[in-house]
Amino acid sequence: MTNRIPYTKPSITELEVEYAADAARHGWGAQCYEYIDRFENEFGKYLGVEHTIATSSCTGAMHMGLAALGIGPGDEVILADTNWIATVAPVKHLGASPVFVDIDPVTWCIDPERADAAITPRTRAIIATHLYGNLADMTALLALGERYGIPVIEDAAEAIGSEWLGKKAGSMGLFSTFSFHGTKTLTTGEGGLFATNDTKLFEKVLTLSNHGRVRGQSRQFWADMIGFKYKMSNIQAAIGCAQLQRIEELTARKKEILAGYKTRLINETGISLNPEPSDGINGAWMPTVVFTKETGVTREILQAAFAEANIDARVFFWPLSSLEMFEDCSENIHAWEIPCRAINLPSYHDINHEQIERVVGVISRTIQCSGTQ
Ligand SMILES: *Cc1c(COP(=O)(O)O)cnc(C)c1O
Repeated sequence: MTNRIPYTKPSITELEVEYAADAARHGWGAQCYEYIDRFENEFGKYLGVEHTIATSSCTGAMHMGLAALGIGPGDEVILADTNWIATVAPVKHLGASPVFVDIDPVTWCIDPERADAAITPRTRAIIATHLYGNLADMTALLALGERYGIPVIEDAAEAIGSEWLGKKAGSMGLFSTFSFHGTKTLTTGEGGLFATNDTKLFEKVLTLSNHGRVRGQSRQFWADMIGFKYKMSNIQAAIGCAQLQRIEELTARKKEILAGYKTRLINETGISLNPEPSDGINGAWMPTVVFTKETGVTREILQAAFAEANIDARVFFWPLSSLEMFEDCSENIHAWEIPCRAINLPSYHDINHEQIERVVGVISRTIQCSGTQ
């Protein structure tokens, strides 16, 4: 049996180990926020955003951001039906109602026209998730938000290294959230970040993030309101600082892997991979192949073929509205259909040529077996 090819695996060098050890040895007492402050500052600079708050997860960052906007019962939040559960969970925790709209079949991200059609007097936010590194159409979404006075929020968990018209993903919405989970392009093990250029919103989230204690409050252990506890630890931030120092290398490699798949698959018909936006850059977090209906290739055929080849390929996100907690919105045809004929490919930093060839071989054989070529 050939070696198993995992689908993701972080790239941890001596630098990350050195920083983590330093934080473990010295990052206490007066130094207990040193790596956190540094990580927040440097990530903000990298993004081109003024305010950042490191968190324990992207989910926590989203929860606090939505709470700071005052979103609660009776409010609606529009998002793509195609999403990880983490994006919608905070909406539900706050008692608001998610409104799932269909995706654009090319970008696999929220379709701005569908978002437009879903707006009601109760809409309080639109969340744009940049799926697998692909960019949601931020020009259309920001114009839509402006027209109705509704904030556009970016879930940029999968979009480190992605750009839209020269702006980094996560620098365009009222606020954005990032994830540094072990599967993401930059990792701290678990971790996340809240980013915004809005100073008032930043102060609100800062207070919420500190158990409701307003900055400058002189009374010790005094909480001004009920807040949250979603903090990143100094040791995690130390690993993050090392990863951030290598960010160009990490994102360049992701793009190289996606380009490698595209080059090798250029002559196959009936498939498409993550698109490059005409005026932007795809950060290529997760190379994904979508097969046309005509190929007859299904998720189940793909899962069996990859399992047989000892390759860890993952299914495309199920539409959230297909989960039991939500009402079925199967009229979102692309969100419901695309996952039935798509698969995520391995793309970890140290994957080699031979392994990429093995993955490509499975795709080519699957197309041939389906009999359309
Ligand atoms: C990974 C991910 C999240 C959740 O991140 P956590 O840090 O695990 O909370 C949220 N949204 C998207 C789109 C993701 O891919």
